[in-house]
Amino acid sequence: MTQPRARCSRAVFLDRDGTICEEVGYLNHISRLRIFPFAAPAVRRLNEAGLPVIVVTNQSGVARGIIPPALVDEVHDTIQREFAACGARIDAFYACTHRREDGCDCRKPLTGLMKRAAREHSLELQGSWVVGDRGADVQLAHNAGARGVLVLTGYGRGEWEWHGTEWPRPPEIVADDLAAAVELVLQYEADPRRVAAVTLPAGADPSRLLGGR
Ligand SMILES: [Mg+2]
Ligand SMILES: [Zn+2]
Repeated sequence: MTQPRARCSRAVFLDRDGTICEEVGYLNHISRLRIFPFAAPAVRRLNEAGLPVIVVTNQSGVARGIIPPALVDEVHDTIQREFAACGARIDAFYACTHRREDGCDCRKPLTGLMKRAAREHSLELQGSWVVGDRGADVQLAHNAGARGVLVLTGYGRGEWEWHGTEWPRPPEIVADDLAAAVELVLQYEADPRRVAAVTLPAGADPSRLLGGR
């Protein structure tokens, strides 16, 4: 029998606001947290598939003095508790609390949070996934050597329809929401050729998408 080889695992990195909960601008009080009803079942599907699930979120409201740092933890604890009630688990949460002008290395689309997660959880970024509702999430994926999934919740539909054609590289997958994104990621993991469900923005060149580049 061959010895099982210790190896890094690919992961699914999830944006928070607009992806697993409603985008409400600055989530400056726990009472404004609205977790999408499909989020916990979707994360449970990833748990069952053995893919680590890591949340990466920009929370510049902290550096701006709009949000106390403890609120970020409170939101993440609440998400984790509600997910646990559905048998779902986020493996770790990482937040950048800086402003762009602070010049940190962790504000998305920079890859600091993903690299930290990779070190702390033995993850392989190459071939991992980033699911989010903004162009910056797609760019983050590609900056890290991962694959990008744009969801059309939150800012997603507007980002895609108004800016999708300007992005240097389109997402590998566009999905209506996190539930659809997870199903497509799992299909892609099983057989990339089976995934063809992409909603094109007006004026987009289909040949740029899904293997067409
Ligand atoms: Mg977002
Ligand atoms: Zn940062």
